[in-house]
Amino acid sequence: MKSAASPLHKVLNPDCVAVVGASDEQERLVSVNSVSSVAKHFMITPYDPLFAPTPGTGLDHPASYWAATAGPLPADDGPAPPRVDTEVAIIGGGYTGLSCAHHLARHYGIKPVVLEANRPGWGCSGRNGGFARMALGRLTAAQMIELWGRDIAKRAFGETMNSLNTVRDMIREGGIECDASEAGHLRIAHRASRAPELKAEAGLLQCEFEYPAEFLSAEEVQARHIGGTQSHGALRIPDALALHPLKLSLGVLRTARAAGATVHPASPVTGWTKRGAEHVLATPCGEVRAKTVVLATNGYTPQHLHPAVRATLFPVLSHIIVTRPLTADEIRGTNFVTRHVLTDARKLLYYWRRLPDDRVMFGGRGLITDAPGMNVRQRDYLLSELKAKLPGLENVTVDYDWHGWVCLTRDFLPHIYHAQDDRSVHYALGYQGSGVSLSLYAGKLLARRVAGDRIENPIPPLATPLARFPLHRLLRVAQRTMYHWYKFRDNTD
Ligand SMILES: Cc1cc2nc3c(=O)[nH]c(=O)nc-3n(C[C@H](O)[C@H](O)[C@H](O)COP(=O)(O)OP(=O)(O)OC[C@H]3O[C@@H](n4cnc5c(N)ncnc54)[C@H](O)[C@@H]3O)c2cc1C
Repeated sequence: MKSAASPLHKVLNPDCVAVVGASDEQERLVSVNSVSSVAKHFMITPYDPLFAPTPGTGLDHPASYWAATAGPLPADDGPAPPRVDTEVAIIGGGYTGLSCAHHLARHYGIKPVVLEANRPGWGCSGRNGGFARMALGRLTAAQMIELWGRDIAKRAFGETMNSLNTVRDMIREGGIECDASEAGHLRIAHRASRAPELKAEAGLLQCEFEYPAEFLSAEEVQARHIGGTQSHGALRIPDALALHPLKLSLGVLRTARAAGATVHPASPVTGWTKRGAEHVLATPCGEVRAKTVVLATNGYTPQHLHPAVRATLFPVLSHIIVTRPLTADEIRGTNFVTRHVLTDARKLLYYWRRLPDDRVMFGGRGLITDAPGMNVRQRDYLLSELKAKLPGLENVTVDYDWHGWVCLTRDFLPHIYHAQDDRSVHYALGYQGSGVSLSLYAGKLLARRVAGDRIENPIPPLATPLARFPLHRLLRVAQRTMYHWYKFRDNTD
């Protein structure tokens, strides 16, 4: 963000888009017919949120299994018009932004304006694995206790339950049809050496948090849930939903608009200035003026959108394949009978589930950069990893694959906070790839805070500012080394 006098701020007209994210000297104006110019830019340079000025303008949902099965898209409010005045502007139309909008409009009578660069749910919210879990990043109960001590860890764990309950409530109250089923979650030991830690975690959850987790032996997992070569016992968490993530996004879009929120697609915020107490957000057609701004852009956040987020986020790719439906023989051969959502105990974990139409959805880390040619190799790699887990699926082929940017932070924790020097700028960012439940809950917490309500039971470590990464622009180099190291550890530990 720059002051009003900054050369980065341009008063925009419908024919141009100011591109933020570049230094003043590098600043560019993409002229005339902004949509096609921006699209061309991204065709030349693979999109990387670490460097890109915006995630695009008005792009369609990726060709995922979810997009193919979501049905018709509900109505929205069209691109933002030349002049909008609002009490609250929300940047980002995923679960966080739409949930914040829904709760502000429904419970506080505030009619916010959501600005989404592409389509509502276009980011992670419309393309994730559809596991709504009790998760605070990747933290285990043992790690929470080690980090914060028992009392705070217990409250933090309680918040993960509140998050999942928020998803349940929003689905029920909004009548959202998103194929949600109470599934449970199995964290599977992919090597026998990883089973003891899962057993200890089950014990800790029972004793310290009085939560009915259980440890299943290898025999129990293989007989009751899933066979294969990498099922050496599992931690079972009975509370988790399996759902259709894009239908959920579109459902929250509907409920937010029905409550009085306005949602503008194809409206990337390309510049941000402050005039007195008023925020002025530049969009392709004009500007949005707001007293309060909520940043809900997660892994797609342009680094220079606001100083509070600059150099604080580390977006990394996660990739998903969906196979053709399994045959009855293949299901029998692998004993893939569970409807639980499944993850393994790897650092670079795999996540998978049997879909209602008997396809397998299998996800794992993506490439370092979003290079179109290389993504084909990542699809093949994931398929080979699935087959390694489940011999018996040798003939299975892939019908869909896609990827998206999840958001890491320096302390590997989500942060739900405000700009340190400006309490009219709020954010919830950094779900570490486990944000279905937490982002919807964070949206609710943000709404409470924006409306001036006290947030009950805040988790202190999350209500802190985001920390900056040193040498942020070199993170992709470090990521390569990290991936090699984690892969080695995952296959040897
Ligand atoms: C492949 C994949 C699988 C995943 N699987 C799971 C899972 O099974 N379970 C789970 O818990 N989590 C999962 N996640 C993570 C989860 O989907 C996210 O944590 C969650 O959806 C984040 O929601 P959000 O609203 O904060 O961000 P997003 O849904 O990413 O939305 C951010 C939006 O901001 C918009 N935006 C960015 N910049 C601007 C701008 N300048 N102006 C306007 N708009 C802008 C983007 O276009 C985007 O639509 C997965 C993620 C991926 C990528």
